[in-house]
Amino acid sequence: MYPFVYTKPADTRAAITAGARGGRYIAGGTTLVDLMRETVERPDTLVDIGGLPLREVRATASGGLRIGALALMSDVAAHPRVRSAYPVVAQALELSASPQLRNMATIGGNLLQRTRCAYFRDVSAACNKRRPGSGCAALEGYNRSHAILGTSDACVAAHPSDLAVALVALNARVHLLGPDGERGLALTELLLRPGDTPDREHGLRPGELITAVEIPPHPRPLLSGYLKVRDRQSYEFALTSAAVVLHLSGGVIRDARIAAGGVGTVPWRLGAVERLLAGARPSEQLWARAAAVAADGARPLRHNAFKAELLKRTIERQLRTVGGTR
Ligand SMILES: Cc1cc2nc3c(=O)[nH]c(=O)nc-3n(C[C@H](O)[C@H](O)[C@H](O)COP(=O)(O)OP(=O)(O)OC[C@H]3O[C@@H](n4cnc5c(N)ncnc54)[C@H](O)[C@@H]3O)c2cc1C
Ligand code: SF4
Repeated sequence: MYPFVYTKPADTRAAITAGARGGRYIAGGTTLVDLMRETVERPDTLVDIGGLPLREVRATASGGLRIGALALMSDVAAHPRVRSAYPVVAQALELSASPQLRNMATIGGNLLQRTRCAYFRDVSAACNKRRPGSGCAALEGYNRSHAILGTSDACVAAHPSDLAVALVALNARVHLLGPDGERGLALTELLLRPGDTPDREHGLRPGELITAVEIPPHPRPLLSGYLKVRDRQSYEFALTSAAVVLHLSGGVIRDARIAAGGVGTVPWRLGAVERLLAGARPSEQLWARAAAVAADGARPLRHNAFKAELLKRTIERQLRTVGGTR
C-alpha cells in the first residue's frame, strides 16, 4: 500500500463535490482495495460512499424496478420482487463471487469492477489498459479466459460482471449524478468496448456517481434465467454465461432478449439469436438453430477457441431451460 487521503462525505452532494475534485469513489471496496494493494491503481483520495442513502430497491411507477447503486449484491439477490419478476438478476448475483463478498459488494461497484486479466493485475506486464501504449501481454500470452467478441488489437480482456449480462438482456439503464446534474445511460453506453483506448472502460464523466440501476417495464408473462459455465462450482468467473429473457404468449415468442458473458469485452447482446427466436414457436430445433449463430463474428485467440462452441451450447441449454418446448 501507499499513503492516500480517506474521506467519508455526509451526503450525496458532498460526495459529488469530492469526486469532482479528483476523489475516487469506493463502495464495498472488494475490487478497489485489492487493486490498490497491488499498486495497479493508485488513487490519491478515496471518497467512501458506503454510507449514502442509495440502497433502496423499489418498483417504479411505470412497472419497472429501481435498484439503488449501494444496495448489496446479497440483498438484491434475496429481494422478493427481484426473485419473482427478474429471476435472471437474482441468479446472476447468486452465481457471482462468494457469500462473504456479496455481503460487502454493491450493485454500482459490481458494474464498474475492473477486468480479471492477470496481465492487467501484474504491474510488471505490458498492458494497454493499465498503461496506455505499453502493449498487450495477453495477445500472445496465456489467453484462455479472455474475450472472443468485441476485442481489438489493443486489448482482449473479458468483461467480468455476471450482473451486467443479466441487466443488458433486460435493457437496463443507470442513473447518474454529477457536477452538471442528473442524466441516464443505457448499460450498453456505460460499458465501453476497448477499441484503441482500453484504459477508458466506462462512459462516466469526471465526478459522476451511479445512483441507481433501472430495469424498464417488460411485457408479461416474462420468463428469464441465467446460466454460468465455469471451471469450478463456486467462487469463479464465467468461461461463458447466458442470460435469457423471453416473453411468450399464445405459444409464440413475442420478444427475446439474449446476452452472453465471459466471451465479450463488454456484456454481449446476441442480436442474431434474438432475431431467429422472435415470432417463432419454441421447439428443440428452434433452440439449436438459434444457438448455432451465437458465436458469429467471434475472433478466438490461441488458448480460447473452445469458447465459441461452449457459448453455442450454453445458449442452447439455457433457451431450453427457460423456454421449454411448448
Ligand atoms: C475472489 C473474487 C471473486 C469474484 N467473483 C465474481 C464473479 O464470479 N462474478 C462477478 O460479477 N463478480 C465477481 N467478483 C467481483 C465482485 O463482485 C466485485 O468486487 C464487487 O461487485 C465490487 O463491488 P464493490 O462495491 O466492492 O466495489 P468497489 O471495489 O468499492 O468499487 C469498484 C469500482 O467501482 C467504482 N464505484 C463503485 N461504486 C460506484 C458508484 N456508485 N458510482 C461510481 N463509481 C463507483 C469504484 O470507484 C471502483 O472503481 C469477485 C471478486 C473477488 C474478489
Ligand atoms: S487483454 Fe487488455 S487488460 Fe489484459 S494485458 Fe491486454 S491490454 Fe491489458
